[in-house]
Amino acid sequence: MKNRLQTLKNEILEKINEIKSEADLKEIELKYFSRKGEINQIMHSLKDLDLELRKEFGVLANQTKKELEEAFTKAKNSILNNNDGEILDVTLPGVNMKRGHLHPITIIQKEVEDLFSSLGFSIISGPELESDYFNFTALNIPPFHPARDMQDTFYVTSAKDDNQEELDLVMRTHTSPVQIRAMRKFGAPLKAIIPGRCFRNEATDARHEHTFYQFEGLMVGEDINFANLKSLLEIVGKKIFGPNTKLRMRPKFYPFVEPGNNGEYTCFLCSGKGCKVCKQTGWLEIVGAGLIHPNVLRAGGIDPEKYSGLAFGFGLTRLAMLKYGVNDVRLFNSGDLKFLQQF
Ligand SMILES: [Zn+2]
Repeated sequence: MKNRLQTLKNEILEKINEIKSEADLKEIELKYFSRKGEINQIMHSLKDLDLELRKEFGVLANQTKKELEEAFTKAKNSILNNNDGEILDVTLPGVNMKRGHLHPITIIQKEVEDLFSSLGFSIISGPELESDYFNFTALNIPPFHPARDMQDTFYVTSAKDDNQEELDLVMRTHTSPVQIRAMRKFGAPLKAIIPGRCFRNEATDARHEHTFYQFEGLMVGEDINFANLKSLLEIVGKKIFGPNTKLRMRPKFYPFVEPGNNGEYTCFLCSGKGCKVCKQTGWLEIVGAGLIHPNVLRAGGIDPEKYSGLAFGFGLTRLAMLKYGVNDVRLFNSGDLKFLQQF
């Protein structure tokens, strides 16, 4: 009797340890713990024993039964409650995934690209690490020209070109070198905008940053003149800042255009009445433009006797600052989520 009890106990404990599913639970419950299960059969058989033996085994049998039931209940809870007592409710709604979004400068860039695509301009790009020649010399800024001082940048150790001649490389200070590349590649007529990242060796503050975005455009063809430039900039201003936007142009020197001008739009915040952003002038200085200098056309492989061209450049970073009211340019490159999540 004693041996029978011990063998059964070992057998049941072994089975409990191997329980992996609810089906296993049911099987063991039925076989051992149900009313007609093996444990109750043993308890039942106690009544056939002599009084003395019944007393002796009765206590042992009851104790064993209790132990086994506890072990089984523990295994049962563990399986039904997904191991750690954690209840899995598959009908609960899931946890929302946090989605990223476009950077504010990218948002503005896409708007500008859409606008110029609708006007028939192609969108092209070029290298950020540029040769000194493309960044300066080909744009009518020869070595020792004082205009180079205004665009100090990061000079990179010389590399060798295809002819094994030393090349001076610079982080491009503007997107204009791509004008030369585009003219050489596509020739005239040509209508394109060039958005991209530029670099200057600046002492950074709220208004200056070593890395910024601009976009510029050019249009080369027969009989391109200043009237074309003015009407194009008027259309662009109305599209970006609203239908009542006015443009005024004032002469300004840029080495790569002749004549060159500064384009100012009526302030979109105060509609020209004067406010803090436009420093009470009613005008915002937004675009630099002009007719492409004959030397630049020549550097691009285009005959300035046959073709003329216009070019203009906007600061994408500046547009983003104006549009979103950002007062520190350094925030754009900070990677600070508290800043970025506002857009
Ligand atoms: Zn204003």
